[in-house]
Amino acid sequence: MSRDQLLTAPDTALPTLRGAVAGLPSYVPGRRSAGTDIAALASNESHFEPLPAATAAVAAAAGTMNRYPDSAAVELRERIARHLGVTAGEVAVGPGSVGVLQQIITGLCDAGDEVIFAWRSFEAYPILVELAGARPVRIPLDDAEGHDLEAMAAAVNDRTRVILLCTPNNPTGVPISHERIEAFLQAVPSSVLVVIDEAYVEYADAGSGPDSLALYRRYPNVCILRTFSKAYGLAGLRVGYAVAAPAIAEGLRRTALPFSVSALAQKAAIASLDAGGEMEARISLLKEECARMAAELEAQGWRLQPSQGNFLWIRADAELLATLVDAFNGVGIMVRAYQGDGVRITVADPASNNRVLRLLAAHAA
Ligand SMILES: *Cc1c(COP(=O)(O)O)cnc(C)c1O
Repeated sequence: MSRDQLLTAPDTALPTLRGAVAGLPSYVPGRRSAGTDIAALASNESHFEPLPAATAAVAAAAGTMNRYPDSAAVELRERIARHLGVTAGEVAVGPGSVGVLQQIITGLCDAGDEVIFAWRSFEAYPILVELAGARPVRIPLDDAEGHDLEAMAAAVNDRTRVILLCTPNNPTGVPISHERIEAFLQAVPSSVLVVIDEAYVEYADAGSGPDSLALYRRYPNVCILRTFSKAYGLAGLRVGYAVAAPAIAEGLRRTALPFSVSALAQKAAIASLDAGGEMEARISLLKEECARMAAELEAQGWRLQPSQGNFLWIRADAELLATLVDAFNGVGIMVRAYQGDGVRITVADPASNNRVLRLLAAHAA
């Protein structure tokens, strides 16, 4: 039979995807343009190039690509442990913190188990939960764009295995205070893993969010999730980590795909941690830009919640969202639009930020 005959023959059923997979949204690639004045403000990446020490470490390790990396990432885990004042046994690394989060969910959830998170929050959450055959439980944000922890605690039941807290929250930028998370931890059974996703923690004002390490020491069901993708500027290398009780961290290391964090990523992450002071200077610049934009937008008449991340959030009804998306597309500024909710704009270099300010001035209320 020819290939065409085979494909149309009535008794040849093609392999089918699991229902959970068939229901997932397709990846929509970002618009590519030949123009040079595209502003990439849709993914919250750092606009700064990687730290010179990280680039040098990658270049120096490039000749080792014929070898597998250290699958246990011992040196990196020890360096992270020293950075945070924990032991390497409490650290698990993965290909981005999304990779680690997938290990967390598949490591803890059986089919039908429940994972609670705020909505709207990070768009990867429902995808990873559904892929694992678990059930996503979305709890709407409160009126101030923050987590409704009372409603989240009330949603816990026998099937709840994991709760995801995102602080500052992507995409709204609103942090969760230390006191509120502590009260939440007292209300939630210690058998439920409470993941504190701190992808943007480096940008947050001291004291605006939780002292997550203190919470972790006090409540062993806390798991801290961090990444090198944002402030450290290594989004393209894929490396993130979790800090968790030794038995959990060990379980995460066991669920990892072998060799999923490359040697280049491990070296770059170590070099970036070693170069701490240099990153602080970049973060200060970025935070100044965030503050400048927030003040100008306020003066234009926009009413925004203060963001503790490297991004701004504009809540928008369908009509305003369509208008803004058209306007941003028209001038080559890529931003993230969330149907029914609003638009998230990464804060970057002053020239790009000024383009955003000029555009939004024309649409202010
Ligand atoms: C960007 C982001 C991450 C990080 O993803 P990586 O896989 O580490 O690149 C994790 N959590 C949230 C909320 C994010 O916005």
